[in-house]
Amino acid sequence: MALIVQKYGGTSVGSPDRIKNVARRVARWKRAGHRLVVVVSAMSGETNRLIALAKEIQAHPDPRELDVMVSTGEQVTIALLCMALMDLGLKARSYTGAQVRILTDSAHTRARIVSIEERTMRRDLDEDCVVVVAGFQGVDEAGNITTLGRGGSDTTGVALAAALKADECQIYTDVDGVYTTDPRIVPDARRLDTITFEEMLEMASLGSRVLQIRSVEFAGKYKVKLRVLSSFEEEGAGTLITFEEDEKMEQATISGIAFNRDEAKITILGVPDRPGIAYQILGPIGDADIDVDMIVQNVGHDGLTDFSFTVHRNDYQKALEILKPVAQHIKAREVQGGDKIAKVSVVGVGMRSHAGIASTAFRTLAEEGINIQMISTSEIKISVVIDEKYMELAVRVLHKAFGLEQPA
Ligand code: ADP
Ligand code: ASP
Ligand code: MG
Repeated sequence: MALIVQKYGGTSVGSPDRIKNVARRVARWKRAGHRLVVVVSAMSGETNRLIALAKEIQAHPDPRELDVMVSTGEQVTIALLCMALMDLGLKARSYTGAQVRILTDSAHTRARIVSIEERTMRRDLDEDCVVVVAGFQGVDEAGNITTLGRGGSDTTGVALAAALKADECQIYTDVDGVYTTDPRIVPDARRLDTITFEEMLEMASLGSRVLQIRSVEFAGKYKVKLRVLSSFEEEGAGTLITFEEDEKMEQATISGIAFNRDEAKITILGVPDRPGIAYQILGPIGDADIDVDMIVQNVGHDGLTDFSFTVHRNDYQKALEILKPVAQHIKAREVQGGDKIAKVSVVGVGMRSHAGIASTAFRTLAEEGINIQMISTSEIKISVVIDEKYMELAVRVLHKAFGLEQPA
């Protein structure tokens, strides 16, 4: 008998029939003798609908009130799933994040989990009950409802699995595992039987939304056995996230291509080239709690240089406003920006021991006439910023250039 945490995403609970389908799967695991804690997302489209509704009232919704509202999406699905489970003759009880007591910090709309109370869940499990918990939400010390950022139900699932020391955390979604890239962009992308935790972390942080990055961080920190599977298929082992030291086999050089459209680029032209300038530019950005991703500074010429960096698109306007007085103060020539960019990344732990990966990537993009605006590399990834309109093309040609497609 194992303790299993299952998480079902928005599409998987997107209609009454799909919820009944989830209930049938949970019932099968329960009847096979396992103890089950189930985390669900809101029905697909619901979180977007609620956010849009808030924006009709307030252009920049108050974060505390937004959390009170968007957390209701998950409150609906936990109750519906419990009803479906009861209809199948199982005992089931639903809880919001605040009721379990998933304690978070107070950073509304992107809160971090601090601790999880196990008592209620353990009691219910001992009573042979399926425990159903709302994903994506928690409560802070003061009792305010918080949410964990888009895609946060993955993190709820993995965090509960870590807290309860579950034997496995199963993330059920609308694809049957982690692929070499998003199968909706590249139809012949290949499903991976396993992916190392380190690569999954990199893929998630570079935009593969199949798992929220914080869920992968949790899995790594607490060594949670994590698997991604389809909620629409009866069979299939999905993709298991493994830890590199467990891997005996030779690593593939490249495991996947990730992409995201979430960033915007800011360039400050004609910046005086002297010590401390990067700090003068990026200090105020950091003070405003804006994360900076890629940074490029050109070699100086005639005592001047250009300085570019990327931020999340949501922070773009705010960053531009902060920089205007900064640019004046440091006597830079001009601030420019654009949010029509995309970041495409080639990821693989095997890259460490293989030269020439970067040149293959750059040649492939050049052959398609795709201009690279920024580059950043680490020992397991190469990322480029390009014009947004070439993103899908870039993903496809890189996927092919590294031989990632399914064998014919
Ligand atoms: P859920 O609602 O179940 O959380 P998400 O939409 O958040 O589902 O995540 C699943 C989606 O992630 C897939 O439908 C797929 O389009 C996308 N995706 C992006 N990159 C990958 C990848 N490398 N492997 C699998 N799916 C991916
Ligand atoms: N419902 C939330 C969202 O759409 C959380 C999740 O689905 O993981 O982002
Ligand atoms: Mg998701």
